[in-house]
Amino acid sequence: FIDLDRFKTINDSLGHNVGDELLKQVSRCLQSVLIAEDTVARLGGDEFVIIINDIGFNNNEAVTNVECIAQKISTHFEKPFAVLGHDLHTSPSIGVTFFPDKEDTEEDFIRQADNAMYLAKKMGRNTLRFFDPSLQYAADKWLDIENALRIAVKEKQFELYYQPQLNAQNGCSSAEALIRWNRPKVGMISPDDFIPICETTGLIVELGSWVILEACQQLARWQAKGHDLVTRIAVNVSPKQFRHESFESVVISALESTAISPESLELEITESLLLEDVHEVSVKMVRLRKYGIHFSIDDFGTGYSSLSYIKRLPIHKIKIDQTFVRDLSTDEDDACIVESTIAMAIKMNLAVIAEGVETKEQEALLNTFGCHDYQGYLYSKPLPAKKFIKIVEKLNAAYGNADIPK
Ligand code: C2E
Ligand code: CA
Ligand code: CA
Repeated sequence: FIDLDRFKTINDSLGHNVGDELLKQVSRCLQSVLIAEDTVARLGGDEFVIIINDIGFNNNEAVTNVECIAQKISTHFEKPFAVLGHDLHTSPSIGVTFFPDKEDTEEDFIRQADNAMYLAKKMGRNTLRFFDPSLQYAADKWLDIENALRIAVKEKQFELYYQPQLNAQNGCSSAEALIRWNRPKVGMISPDDFIPICETTGLIVELGSWVILEACQQLARWQAKGHDLVTRIAVNVSPKQFRHESFESVVISALESTAISPESLELEITESLLLEDVHEVSVKMVRLRKYGIHFSIDDFGTGYSSLSYIKRLPIHKIKIDQTFVRDLSTDEDDACIVESTIAMAIKMNLAVIAEGVETKEQEALLNTFGCHDYQGYLYSKPLPAKKFIKIVEKLNAAYGNADIPK
């Protein structure tokens, strides 16, 4: 529910012609932020209602997406609207309610959003409030983290942890770099709690560049110390980061400045990257692949990617998502998905690794399905660089004792 701030003043002082024209421009601006499936309507006066379907799988995701859309709307209001010779400033006060499978009526939802909007006005205009207090809490937390993250990126409060990836034949030869945020006075924060915020705010571009350089530097340090146990490092790349114009130069300069071989860098992308502008994405991937860099598809099976893209893009490996691995031994459907994914990967000449392997039972099943690369707590949690090498040495010694099925 959106209400325009200062509209009454504009309407009263400059006349209804100006007011009407401003409303038209605001309507167009709202339409430009939304996609075809969304609904935007003017209820009357300066009140608009927007309905968005499928805003998120859970509350956290929904709150993040709402914040992102609200931010886009607010950005449009930063510049004045040019209306019949006047430069007019107005801003949106936004109230939000969610309607999952609740039994409330349409009137109830509008009233809830209206109440939330009223609170937004009381809070000082140009703000967003949620009807549900627990969602408001989540939104406040979001804002708090966003502010702290801006400082964190400047002050480099981050550290990379490394999780070993094991192969049944060769033992451990690669690692996935996973970011941690050591937030002052709070402690270690998991990436699931801050990466989505970095994504929506764009902070991911700077942070992601740091991750790539740091991971390459770490591999170079290990190699300089004679640790030949790790020959490849996998780095997570978010869609916004990949799409950014600086991405290729960031990757290449990290490789050049550390002098590690491009073959030893693997970029983990997700299926969501392949949903839009596949052509552009593919051109970039091909160039980076020609340079020597490897690509893997992370969380495979959780997105909506088309198998034909996977065939056409220069992808080296798919990573079976841990949600399928988790119930592998108890859920027949999951077992079936995993087995066919592995079979498909082999047929398509792709490498395949299973994530989130926690038990010997899962490992044995994966092995019978033909998957010989594993990552998960069964071997090791992600660890700081110093501890990582010790674990890898131990793992490889254990491997000598046939601990990992061949
Ligand atoms: P992901 O890429 O799917 O990473 C795997 C996650 O599963 C990691 O969580 C890892 O600690 C966890 N994990 C590994 N083995 C097991 C297991 O056996 N059981 C269970 N239950 N979990 C396991 P983490 O480190 O909290 O990272 C969460 C997500 O944050 C990552 O999921 C990735 O999407 C994102 N992320 C982490 N680092 C970065 C980064 O540098 N850049 C970007 N863009 N995203 C990152
Ligand atoms: Ca990953
Ligand atoms: Ca994953």
